[in-house]
Amino acid sequence: VKKADASAVAAVKAALSKVLQPNQLSDDPEKLRVYGHDESDMGDFLPQLLVFAQSTADVSLVFRAAFAHGVPVTPVAARSGKSGGSLPLYGGVSLSLERMNKILELSPEDLVAVVEPGVITGDLMKAADAVGLFYPPDPNSWEFCSMGGNIAENAGGPRALKYGVTRDYVLGLEWVLPTGEVLHCGKRTIKGVAGYDLCGLFVGSEGTLGVATKITLQLIPRPRKVMTALVIFADVLAAARAVSAMLASGLLPRCLELLDDVSIRAIDGRGFSFPQGAGAAVIAEVDGNHDDGLLLELQQLSEVAMAHGALDTLIAQDDAQREKLWAARRVVSTSLRAMKPFKISEDVAVPRSKIPEAIARFKEMGARLGLTVATYGHAGDGNLHANILFDSPKDRPTVDEALKQMMEITVALGGTITGEHGVGYAKRRFIALEQGEGLISFQKRLKAFIDPLGLLNPGKIFEPDA
Ligand SMILES: Cc1cc2nc3c(=O)[nH]c(=O)nc-3n(C[C@H](O)[C@H](O)[C@H](O)COP(=O)(O)OP(=O)(O)OC[C@H]3O[C@@H](n4cnc5c(N)ncnc54)[C@H](O)[C@@H]3O)c2cc1C
Repeated sequence: VKKADASAVAAVKAALSKVLQPNQLSDDPEKLRVYGHDESDMGDFLPQLLVFAQSTADVSLVFRAAFAHGVPVTPVAARSGKSGGSLPLYGGVSLSLERMNKILELSPEDLVAVVEPGVITGDLMKAADAVGLFYPPDPNSWEFCSMGGNIAENAGGPRALKYGVTRDYVLGLEWVLPTGEVLHCGKRTIKGVAGYDLCGLFVGSEGTLGVATKITLQLIPRPRKVMTALVIFADVLAAARAVSAMLASGLLPRCLELLDDVSIRAIDGRGFSFPQGAGAAVIAEVDGNHDDGLLLELQQLSEVAMAHGALDTLIAQDDAQREKLWAARRVVSTSLRAMKPFKISEDVAVPRSKIPEAIARFKEMGARLGLTVATYGHAGDGNLHANILFDSPKDRPTVDEALKQMMEITVALGGTITGEHGVGYAKRRFIALEQGEGLISFQKRLKAFIDPLGLLNPGKIFEPDA
């Protein structure tokens, strides 16, 4: 794949102008700049043409027109991605799904929702809640990320510990292939095993195998009660050991979120104040239908934590206090960014028994290389966000070395280089650490079968062939 030349893009624009409305196409430099950036800190890659799809047919038209002229297409949603998935590395068309943002159906009888890809995740959660239902996957970006992006990245979140990730809720997909063909895969029932599990393949395909234009989701009854506690520790290793012990205790909280000393320093006083002596904390949350049972579960978790060095457990007394805790958790990423001019956020996952060792080794590696490493995240499922904070682009070679060592440590502990953000552009150089040549080659052949021209979101997941 090479960067599309201007005349080919002009030809695509001319072809699409005949079939789309004028406000669906833009090559305004200001707009192109906005769509050339996401939350990955991987730099700016400007598209040459921006197309806003308003229907499934529009998506097919864009693929057909662009690929006929050899122009790459990169799907883009809310641009909250952290692996650079929506960055058009080779220019060409950015295909935005944001205007396809309708909740088409919410069925309390079937416990099913059908949505377009541009629906904001939080809007679906609220709509389900309003009819007594629950959509559990809760990426911390739920206020602004979209369902199409969640499908592409198989997004997870704090509640994945108990409820699983996006893929566990996708029953069916309307899917546009790079050829422009429209597939309807999956089902509307919980069970259903006819044919290959294509939804399983498409969810998590990072915008490289086609585009979701309609998504059928499983919902569950909303748990009537939720209780949240903040467990305080003197240091992060004690907290990590306590997380492992809590998980081994036979209880299944819906979230166990870890904050280390640097993360606590970053958010302390920003809407929430931590008690003196707090060097780490765990947000533990349980849900069910009866207050008494939940309080008992939190008390049991607290006892296990206290036996493993916790200093105190503070139980949120009402929804306002719960929300204050979660609001603090949601600003960790942005607050860390405010501490130092540069930040790289990693998203590894390790087997849960290895959480303490992973955190200790990341901190030791950071100290050895003279870098600040903050580790927080969904510790309950082993998914750690290890952040490297640094002062200047001059530090970048050391940071790159630190990232490499972090991935090596993770893989050596039996973990994976990405728990939820995807490989995208940011981590494609590390995939060979985790996956063998045979597996990578098979996936490339699969991609070539579905996208023979290699023009859909090129340069993602795998390093380009030399
Ligand atoms: C503060 C913050 C907190 C976050 N917390 C979490 C978290 O807890 N858990 C988590 O998993 N992630 C988290 N993220 C990462 C990000 O929000 C998710 O990856 C999210 O799923 C991206 O959605 P988006 O709509 O922004 O997609 P974009 O970033 O626009 O795109 C992501 C990918 O989806 C592809 N794509 C977009 N639409 C479609 C479509 N309709 N069909 C096929 N492919 C498509 C794009 O090509 C790209 O590869 C966080 C990000 C931020 C900034």
